[in-house]
Amino acid sequence: MVMKKNVKKIMRLILFFFLLVFIFFLINNYIKKEADDLFMVDLTNYSLSEVKNYAKRYELKLKINYTYSKIDKDKIISQNIKPKAKFARGDYLEVTVVKEIDDKLWAKYQVNELGMVPIMMYHGIFNLNNSDVVYTGGNVDSDGYNRTTEAFINDLEMFYQNDYRMIRLNDYINSEIDVPLGTSPIILTFDDGARNNINVLGYDKKGNLIIDPNSAVGILEHFKKKYPDFQVTATFFLNAGLFNQPQYNEDILKWLIKNGYDIGNHTKNHDNLSKMTKDEVMMSIGYMYQLFEEIIPNQYVNIISLPFGLPDSKNHQHFPYILGGTYHNTEYQNLTALRVGWDADYSPYHQAFDCTYLKRIRAWDNNGVDFDIEMVFNNLKQTRYISSGLKDVIVIPKEKSPNLASDLNMEVIEY
Ligand SMILES: [Zn+2]
Repeated sequence: MVMKKNVKKIMRLILFFFLLVFIFFLINNYIKKEADDLFMVDLTNYSLSEVKNYAKRYELKLKINYTYSKIDKDKIISQNIKPKAKFARGDYLEVTVVKEIDDKLWAKYQVNELGMVPIMMYHGIFNLNNSDVVYTGGNVDSDGYNRTTEAFINDLEMFYQNDYRMIRLNDYINSEIDVPLGTSPIILTFDDGARNNINVLGYDKKGNLIIDPNSAVGILEHFKKKYPDFQVTATFFLNAGLFNQPQYNEDILKWLIKNGYDIGNHTKNHDNLSKMTKDEVMMSIGYMYQLFEEIIPNQYVNIISLPFGLPDSKNHQHFPYILGGTYHNTEYQNLTALRVGWDADYSPYHQAFDCTYLKRIRAWDNNGVDFDIEMVFNNLKQTRYISSGLKDVIVIPKEKSPNLASDLNMEVIEY
């Protein structure tokens, strides 16, 4: 009896041992299988955060496309790797997600991504109060090309309080407008590289530039801190003298690029391109790009601001050489020629938008007439571009659709 009991016990132990081996084999096989062969799951039941976790777990490079609907939201509707298909770690996983749209909110904010975009033209900013000058408002000269710091600060405050947010000129011409729902894009430009655009006082102990807080960039940096959502940026159009501070010029250019500003072309000697020969035109423009290439290679923008706004017609015989030419065996290209304009320009999605020749608004005071700041921004109340906050679609009121450009490859939502 005792023996029989022991045999039974041993048998049970052996059985248990085999069971353990079998389970171990199964687990081992499963782990191996997972390491060797990965099979995609059906992601349509997943939430976006679950998809992100899944991609992370299998080291997939995730690309998310969005589409919009009034009913569904945060629903995955397609995936590039089909369910049950084999995939490997490091593969691309591309999914399309439905996001909910809210046309009531668009109506409330009067979203119109076919509206007008102001490109401001500044020159010198003089460290003066308006009461220090004899001209209208904050004009430092009779035409208001140069302004006081007080006027400039007032402009910036007005832009912010009226829900304008800055974007890069280069993004605008590339049809990339990224400002929050209900706000409007605005673009700042400065011509001539006046010292008071970015006046450098020296280097600090760490070797960083000390920038005069009363120069234009000093004021812009102050606004950057005061209103972090203002998206502060500007493009500076320079001649051969750059910012006219020989000992700091190169460091200034590098500093501006590093801090989110742009550098563009204003010809070598502030030249009247309409009075030059074609070769002189190419020299005047090409010289500046060669200079930029030496200091900030590939980091400047291919945009020219036309000195004196000339030529004042695209039909001028030299206009093609302004947009593209050769200097010292090096080709240059300008995506845009900026005019000395008067009013806001079109949305990049508008059929009348011509990115090669853009208008600017002279930032000056003239008692609300002759396209001064007050007049232009009063007009813009009815016509301005108002963003949906969605980066990858164009949202417009139904009645505006006849004005859409025909060659857009972005989704358009009318409401
Ligand atoms: Zn100029």
